[in-house]
Amino acid sequence: MDVKEILAQLVSFSVLGGQSNASIAEWIEKYLEKHGVVYQTVPHATENKRSIHCRIGPPVDGGLILSGHTDVVPVEGQPWKTDPFVLTDGGNGKLYGRGSCDMKGFIACCLAALPTMQSSALQKPLYFAFSYDEEVGCRAAPALAADIKSHYEESPKYALIGEPSMMQPIVGQKGIVIYKTSLNGSAGHSSRIRQEVSAISEAARLILWLEEKMDDLIQSGHIDKRFDPPHTSIHSGVFEHSGIAPNVVSDHASFYWDVRVIPQDKGKSIREDFDAYCRALEEKNRTKWDQFEIKTVEAHPDVPALDTSEETEIVELTKIFSGRSDLGTVSYAAEAGQFAEAGFQSIICGPGDIMQAHRADEFIEIDQLEKGMEMMNRIVKWASS
Ligand SMILES: [Zn+2]
Repeated sequence: MDVKEILAQLVSFSVLGGQSNASIAEWIEKYLEKHGVVYQTVPHATENKRSIHCRIGPPVDGGLILSGHTDVVPVEGQPWKTDPFVLTDGGNGKLYGRGSCDMKGFIACCLAALPTMQSSALQKPLYFAFSYDEEVGCRAAPALAADIKSHYEESPKYALIGEPSMMQPIVGQKGIVIYKTSLNGSAGHSSRIRQEVSAISEAARLILWLEEKMDDLIQSGHIDKRFDPPHTSIHSGVFEHSGIAPNVVSDHASFYWDVRVIPQDKGKSIREDFDAYCRALEEKNRTKWDQFEIKTVEAHPDVPALDTSEETEIVELTKIFSGRSDLGTVSYAAEAGQFAEAGFQSIICGPGDIMQAHRADEFIEIDQLEKGMEMMNRIVKWASS
């Protein structure tokens, strides 16, 4: 099967983030079996979904992991001109389909290159690492990376995450975490506002505190010019469940806020500062009403930033693999930071344009798929030397 045929198969599985990926995982496993590859699965604790990893080549240190996610984002409400789950050649050099670009195109390149990898005398091993639930918070990659570390006796050194980057090596990625904060209030007649605790008012203080926290970080020089915007952003996007009537002190409020950190900032420490402010606010209000409480939970796991130094070997190698030497950074979340945290030199580089991802009529250019295959050939050459 060539890369286009494989991509067509992969696109036909409408596995969304959060859903079971058993169907597409089974197809990939059958493909690996057909080629005599022994693979491992890393199942979800309770649900029917799994990551897959395998090694091609000798069990020696210094290998390269090729990583991709098998899930895609929904198509609901998007004006697609073609069936999103049927790969359609537009006759204009573009192949349309959900996931064609983000990021089944890269997985198709890996699988299409498998016979070449097997027929080459690899001196260094290559690994496939295919995850699930990336689109709903990069949930599977930490367990996948950990399993790769513990399963193999040898130590893989590098991880290349094939997110669409137009084959540009991406050395930096912002981290992301989303929180939901809920507050209660004492209710009561609005005329008694000086004696009651209003959930809306206290939530408003917290939301403004978050905005000021972002400004403080910027003022104190937390700037990384490689990113756009060049600072950590903190933003409250949803305010819900608050108030029942204009003349009743609101007894409940909740809001979601997201934090997108540059590598030097940590979502965790921003959360700690926020929690300290919450505790102070609780103490103050409990003199009026002793049951006042502010609760914050993670609504999207903390996905770490990626910050790979330009001097790292994986950067030099990826320049050779991809044929592009202009390095870039991205502001979206990806699994690269998680692989880096697991101890692998990590980088993002893959076929297709992130501009096409998550949209109606998502496509990948055939030219990009070919460039992806050229990268695979260069990777095989490197691994054979
Ligand atoms: Zn992706």
